[in-house]
Amino acid sequence: MLDWSVIFDAHLDLAFNAAEGRDLTRPLPQSMNGETAIVNFESLKQAGVRACMGTLWAYPRSTDHPQGYVTAQEARTLALEQLDQYLRWQDQGHIRLLTSGSELLEHWNNHDADAPLGVILLMEGADPIVDPADLQFWHREGLRVVGLAWERTRYSGGTNAPGGLTPEGVELVHAIRDLNLTLDASHLAEQAFWEMVEIHQKVIASHSNAQALIPTDRQLSDAMIRKIGEMDGMIGLVMFSSFIKKGFKRGMPKQDVGFADLLVHAEHIAGLIGWNRIGLGSDLDGGFGLERTPRELLHLKDLEQFFQLVPEPARAGVQFQNWLTWLARSI
Ligand SMILES: [Zn+2]
Repeated sequence: MLDWSVIFDAHLDLAFNAAEGRDLTRPLPQSMNGETAIVNFESLKQAGVRACMGTLWAYPRSTDHPQGYVTAQEARTLALEQLDQYLRWQDQGHIRLLTSGSELLEHWNNHDADAPLGVILLMEGADPIVDPADLQFWHREGLRVVGLAWERTRYSGGTNAPGGLTPEGVELVHAIRDLNLTLDASHLAEQAFWEMVEIHQKVIASHSNAQALIPTDRQLSDAMIRKIGEMDGMIGLVMFSSFIKKGFKRGMPKQDVGFADLLVHAEHIAGLIGWNRIGLGSDLDGGFGLERTPRELLHLKDLEQFFQLVPEPARAGVQFQNWLTWLARSI
């Protein structure tokens, strides 16, 4: 009997929220970046999110992030603070860190209403990994998925920063391959993507939509989508309105974007590589609030209405099963 109330989300920036001073153990409403936050541990539970990939996301210094890093050591310190946050949440019973396929399945299948949220650690932007030897430290701490870029990093071109892998990036991808970890292609510049997949082919895109519909380098080109399919990878759909509907900007009415617009991305990707390579990578705590999500989404549990739009034979797959199957055999 399928449990229709459960969801796997491949991209949440939980510890980043804590770093920004938001307490996920406290009730909503809370504000985030001047908008209305939608994610806390209670709303995740109510929505049926049983497990997710949670990021270690060190952010470069900018006007938005004056506390951000400049050097690799500063990036490492930020990521270590986020790792500590996940460990504290685990001690408090809010989350359970999952580091293997068997742990994931055990967590998934023996779940009760009070169970903690399962979290697989994903590093978004690899600058906190000081060198390939340091990757072994992060691996021991539970890191299983690595995205080389956010914007440009020491390792590769990224969003709004075209370019390939640096020599250090080539070296790091080899080290990631040697540990058989997963690479996250979201945020990667396209040139870097093609150089990366020459070296290691265990590749997902945790939170990316289709560039054919949103023509920026933050989304995946059709060629990249096909390649991820050929490599037996997975793609997580993002719930950020600017990544769903072309021309949507902050300040525009929430009404302008709907779940049906995100379904068009899903159908496009499914047309290239099939429904069984699609899941959710919502990013719903990634620096934007309720105001910049589809109109149907007023509470996290409204995610269910998106899955209702997915063709019935593919629905359970997109909601949780595709990620679960992939991760169970891959991490
Ligand atoms: Zn991101």
